[in-house]
Amino acid sequence: MKLDLAEDFVGAEASEQAAEIIRKCVHCGMCNAVCPTYRLTGNELDGPRGRIYLVKSMLEEGKTNRVVTQHLDRCLTCRACETVCPSGVEYGELVEIARPKLKHRSPYQRVLRAGLITLASRPRLFRLAFRAGTALRVLSPRRFRGLFTAPPPSQPPTASPTKGLKGRIILLDGCVQSAVTPQVNAGLTSLLAGAGFSVVRVKQETCCGALPLHLGAKRKAMRVMNKNLKALTSNLEGVEAIVSTASGCGVTLKDYGRLLGTEAARHVAGLVVDASELLADAKFGIKLRAALPLRRIAWQAPCTLASGMRLGTEVETLLKSVGYTLVPVADANQCCGSAGTYSMFEPDAANALREKKLQNLQADSPEAIATANIGCQMHLRQASSVPVYHWLELVRLEDD
Ligand code: SF4
Ligand code: SF4
Repeated sequence: MKLDLAEDFVGAEASEQAAEIIRKCVHCGMCNAVCPTYRLTGNELDGPRGRIYLVKSMLEEGKTNRVVTQHLDRCLTCRACETVCPSGVEYGELVEIARPKLKHRSPYQRVLRAGLITLASRPRLFRLAFRAGTALRVLSPRRFRGLFTAPPPSQPPTASPTKGLKGRIILLDGCVQSAVTPQVNAGLTSLLAGAGFSVVRVKQETCCGALPLHLGAKRKAMRVMNKNLKALTSNLEGVEAIVSTASGCGVTLKDYGRLLGTEAARHVAGLVVDASELLADAKFGIKLRAALPLRRIAWQAPCTLASGMRLGTEVETLLKSVGYTLVPVADANQCCGSAGTYSMFEPDAANALREKKLQNLQADSPEAIATANIGCQMHLRQASSVPVYHWLELVRLEDD
């Protein structure tokens, strides 16, 4: 695709990089077939090819407008389009470059964005806000009410190895998950300790940067990423892996090398694994069993796991290996509509995508749904007729 940058953008690294990405696109439209928003509206501008044209026009004209903002904001950043593109167009990176340039949002959107970005960079403040929201649930706006559900009581975890020390593992707390479903990390901590690992929590851990990055606040994202990198780097002694249990965070942490461009960032990114990679890796020798008396499970692979990290079968294999039956799910690669904060800004599209997703997930009458990301779990459970678990809640150490 031919592209001539507007004078203001010539020589600007990010714009030159965006132009490089756009030039790879051969307009074949194969990406539209898997794009959830294109499938929802049928509008070319709600598909990846149309959005690439919009970014191209923005870079050529040197300015943005309401239409560009509206259709780029409507993108879930699920990256399903990347998985089928024959030209290797890095669509996710393109949107990441374009979003900070967008304007023309309503005052409501601007305030909500600023609030979420502030909360994301202060995990303690987020936890307080979540507790307050849960206590005052009935007073919160209807569209947010379903998000506030108190976590079930869980046992305080054992973090020290209960048998011979096999190694040290950093377990990331994350911001949202640590407030909403702390039982997920508590369970994994005890599981790893039982398997002989010392589980390290990094006190200075902060937001991984995924949320501000998706909201187009790239400078803020870089600041929190650097802060997080510093915290992780000073705790790496003897560490075999840095484990993330929320795929939305894991995908960003694995990308620190590209995003921050330093040797330290590349080193940390190289240590990051999703919990499924760790538990499936024979070298760690962790044997599991089923934790709950359920048989039929519907597995929902979050986009950040399947399209972002290109993982997904690991969890399915683990769940089957402990005795669960995974029911078939149609259109398994389609986003559930959560997409970080998307459901707050685009509730109609998010709810329509969720409805379709739940129809597919529940078509074969599972007893529960399993997923791997807190955003998907919170979004799906608001409308699901069966419980929605993080898959780690379904497994336990074999001899526990
Ligand atoms: S990231 Fe997802 S929603 Fe956005 S254009 Fe690609 S497939 Fe469509
Ligand atoms: S599949 Fe790739 S090359 Fe084809 S239109 Fe989409 S982004 Fe462009």
